Amino acid sequence: MICAVCGNEMKIIPAGISKKTGKPYTSFMACPNKCVQPKGNPAPTPVQSFAGNLTEEARQTHIDKAVEAKRNGINASVALNNAVNLYKGDLTMTADIVLKTAEIFLTWLDGKTK
Ligand SMILES: [Zn+2]
Repeated sequence: MICAVCGNEMKIIPAGISKKTGKPYTSFMACPNKCVQPKGNPAPTPVQSFAGNLTEEARQTHIDKAVEAKRNGINASVALNNAVNLYKGDLTMTADIVLKTAEIFLTWLDGKTK
């Protein structure tokens, strides 16, 4: 059985006694993500679940890419700012050296934030 909410394979929770209420319960299916299953709705077909998963995955991939791009932009900006600040303290630095220094900062930052 597949979770109607997230599309994950549901797990069988064996019958037992509730730690909360002390009352016995029969075995039931539960989503590992603890999704609350909608009542009265039929479980989605495998195709629906697959499409749902795909959309969620595609969405997450998109979000991950956006976060990555934003972090890349922030890191590059911070690295360049630091190199320019160094340049302000040593105006004999050439633009090439400033940019190379920025790249060194960027490599260090990427190593720390990725
Ligand atoms: Zn779920």
